[in-house]
Amino acid sequence: MRPLVDAHLDLAWNAAAHDRDLCLSLSEMNAAEEGMTDVSYREHATVTFPEMREAGIFLCLGTLLARSGPALSRKLAYSRTDLDYTTRIGSYAAGYAQLACYRWWEQQGEIRLILTQQDFDKHVAECAKKSCHKIGIILSMEGADPILNPDQLEEWHQQGLRAIGPAHYGHSHYAGGTAVDGPLTADGRGLLKQMDRLKMGLDVTHLCDRSMEEAFELFGGTIWASHHNSRTLVPNDRQLSDDQIQKLIHRDGVIGTACDAWMLRSGWTIGKTTPEGLTLDSMIDHIDHVCQMAGNADHAAIGSDLDGGFGTEQTPSDLKSIKDLQRVSELLDQRGYKESDIEQIFSGNWLRLFRKVLPNAL
Ligand SMILES: [Zn+2]
Repeated sequence: MRPLVDAHLDLAWNAAAHDRDLCLSLSEMNAAEEGMTDVSYREHATVTFPEMREAGIFLCLGTLLARSGPALSRKLAYSRTDLDYTTRIGSYAAGYAQLACYRWWEQQGEIRLILTQQDFDKHVAECAKKSCHKIGIILSMEGADPILNPDQLEEWHQQGLRAIGPAHYGHSHYAGGTAVDGPLTADGRGLLKQMDRLKMGLDVTHLCDRSMEEAFELFGGTIWASHHNSRTLVPNDRQLSDDQIQKLIHRDGVIGTACDAWMLRSGWTIGKTTPEGLTLDSMIDHIDHVCQMAGNADHAAIGSDLDGGFGTEQTPSDLKSIKDLQRVSELLDQRGYKESDIEQIFSGNWLRLFRKVLPNAL
């Protein structure tokens, strides 16, 4: 089994907003959801802690995810009651509820929160010796609405937050996200300044083109796209243009390829298209696109997003559990990737970036 770093899982959102027990085996968790119809992906889950261990995942970015952007956007197609709040205090509280999940899992011995470079070095060394079975988690925020204002970032940083994607779908209080367009807000510019000062990571995933362009200019620190595929291969504003990929490469950024089916293959209609005919090989197309642009394998990686509001109804047909990501290794090998390149894509590239956003000590 090849050690793997996954740059995007919404673990706590699954627990806090979907009432899922991630400590169960996958079959137990899916059995517990029998007959539930509140969302389409009940009984189709691919992610629990035991499955993550079998996937070789020893480190991941775990998100805090809640939205309270301008009211207008919540009436649009992507509005959802398990994510959207009409008040900012609602999204602030939801962020803390999810933080409580990670703390509980840490007390239970399932995970280890990685807050500093010392934590990181210890965890990576122990996992290399196979003497640690806890999953290391670095906290990231997907959509910055739980942060009430830029000055409050200090509080979230003290709580362990180390990276931020300023918007999700629609407008956040800080930036334009997927499916909309617009600049960074004044608070968005203020937030990036504070993030720079605290040496936090900027995740450009979900930023609309205009906000992303401004963020590239304003932000001087470590930058990545945690779960993001190619717009050239699958046209959609949610995807990265070649120009954006080039900018990320130029900044020593890393792009995590996601496993959401509609982002892998053109013409997928959510809720209608079924996975037949789509395989993990399409993931390799997106990884390879980044590597061909870079001329090396130093900027491509995995950000699976496998628990981000979909399950096996919307994954490649040969992915029934997150552990099937291990197959990406042999598929890269079949495409002629060297051992050292595969290792970079599986873990090395994310390890290089993540260490940079951790403080030396608390
Ligand atoms: Zn996302």
